[in-house]
Amino acid sequence: MSKYITTPIYYVNGEAHIGHAYTTFIADSVARYERLKGEKTFFLTGTDEHGQKIEESAQKNGKPTQEFADEISASFKNLWDDFGISYDKFIRTTDEEHKIGVQKAFETMYAKGDIYKDFYEGHYCVSCETFFPETQLVDGEFCPDCGRTTNIVKEESYFFRLSNYQDKLLAYYEEHPDFVLPRSRINEVKNFVAGGLRDLSVTRTSFTWGVKMPKSMNDDKHVMYVWLDALLNYITALGYGKDEKNMDFWPASTQFVGKDILRFHAIYWPAFLMSLDLPLPKHIGAHGWWTRDGEKMSKSKGNVVAPKEVADLYGVENLRYFMLREVPFGQDGDFSQKAFIDRINSELSNDLGNLLNRIIGMSGKYSDFIIDSEDVQIYHSKELSNMNGVLDSLDKFMENMQTHRYLEELWKLFSIANKAIEEHAPWVKMKEGKTEEALATVALVANILARASIMLHPIMPNTTNTIADALSFIIDNASYKKFIVEKQLLSSFTIKKVPPLFPRIEEPLMQEAPKVEPCKPKEELKEIDKEDDNLIEIGQFFETSLKVGTVMEAEEVPKSKKLLKLQVDLGEEKPRQVIAGIKEFYSAEELVNTQICVVANLKPAKLMGMMSEGMLLAAKDEDGLCLVRPEKPKKSGTPIG
Ligand SMILES: [Zn+2]
Repeated sequence: MSKYITTPIYYVNGEAHIGHAYTTFIADSVARYERLKGEKTFFLTGTDEHGQKIEESAQKNGKPTQEFADEISASFKNLWDDFGISYDKFIRTTDEEHKIGVQKAFETMYAKGDIYKDFYEGHYCVSCETFFPETQLVDGEFCPDCGRTTNIVKEESYFFRLSNYQDKLLAYYEEHPDFVLPRSRINEVKNFVAGGLRDLSVTRTSFTWGVKMPKSMNDDKHVMYVWLDALLNYITALGYGKDEKNMDFWPASTQFVGKDILRFHAIYWPAFLMSLDLPLPKHIGAHGWWTRDGEKMSKSKGNVVAPKEVADLYGVENLRYFMLREVPFGQDGDFSQKAFIDRINSELSNDLGNLLNRIIGMSGKYSDFIIDSEDVQIYHSKELSNMNGVLDSLDKFMENMQTHRYLEELWKLFSIANKAIEEHAPWVKMKEGKTEEALATVALVANILARASIMLHPIMPNTTNTIADALSFIIDNASYKKFIVEKQLLSSFTIKKVPPLFPRIEEPLMQEAPKVEPCKPKEELKEIDKEDDNLIEIGQFFETSLKVGTVMEAEEVPKSKKLLKLQVDLGEEKPRQVIAGIKEFYSAEELVNTQICVVANLKPAKLMGMMSEGMLLAAKDEDGLCLVRPEKPKKSGTPIG
């Protein structure tokens, strides 16, 4: 089974923003993942270049329309090339082959009786050259864009019999619950279809910048409506209607779209395909939008994140990692430099980068950089089995585009490695003369890193190539088979020294977004100020990192009436020690294995000579003190807020 992955084609009405980058990163990662597994894969991206808006933008910029489209299309292509996006084809809807395919599709639908000619009637703004549905008119009369009076205009148009497909679509959604991912998104689609589908106007006579009608129609007045033209790119890119040599990639395995264009992809597109007697894509993956520091991005606010700027400052692979790790697929994501830097420092630098440096250092000291796996099975069968458990669980997350879960799960490998180092303490074993055991631990970590770099490769291709190179192998389908499928261990090799892969970032590298003034009349603001001077901004609240913690151990602090010493798991490499003044209200025993809420970013403090690395939340009144706990068990380290 081959795999066909697509991004939407991006509209050439403006520059690429961070949302485009996200769609392209996730599609690229899935395509790379499929290739790694040895699947025959075709990955498509491109630009959508027709329609009245493009014609107008070109005029505004004083350029011929084609030249304008060429420039913006090239800016997308250059950006993806710059980012190393591994597309197999970059399609432009102004490509001749595409136009031929669209005309062929139109003829096919027409011959089938799915397209007919009629009149399009609606409220038309002459100035904006646009029809508006009644619901969008201001006071039932005026143009929502320019405020001018609209007229009822009748325009000749060809229509696609979308109404014929209402029942077929609803039946299809029922039979294919994974057609739209995440599954929750299908409801809005179903409701829309169940509410009744009207036939769709698929041509226009009010502008000329579009795919011309097929010659056989003998009707030059019309050009194709941009959505008919645009959606068909997914098959014309494979040669539909011309040289169909790549059509065996159809149906697509996953088509990524933003949630704002889900309706077009989950209703019109499948209806067109049904009309063409072509199978429907396996999945339409609808992702959310990106905000910046919790604010909607817009040009007027001046807070738009330019993907190129971020990538130049932080590295494109770090950006890929951050975006795919940060958001559950389908939900909206927030871009904040703080969250980005935190992930680079703690997950990439501490968890992954340090591990590689540690084994380079240890193998240098103990074995002249030679790493040999021959004793790993003897000393570390438990770790190997845990490692394989993690690796076997990964596939389903990528299949469902849950990249955040995929990465979260993958990171468990580094916990296994770090725990093995702590438990087996190779430096102690060396002193005790147990050289074999010490070297086995180093080799275990090398094996874990090798697997992690293979599975992380789709998300961070270059960085993982560097790690693989240090470990003396290359990442490809052969090594995927050898290490992931067949679970072989690394052969004896000499580890290479590499410069730190993820230097820690201490200060934000990019200028922060300008502070956005709240949209409240000043007087109202004043009143709020008067009412309570202690109000804080939401951002101030989130400066405090609150987390769910699990008490692993608890003991009384000798000679203290009040203090208990707790070891609290916050989902980090090792538990934190928290000294808490709660002995009068809780015994050490009853706290073990219960959950508490912890302020996780307090500066560590010394209490009775002991470090306390956090503060727990409690409520106290005249009846005594009680701890604040999650209502249901939550994973250690779950953020509260
Ligand atoms: Zn108008």
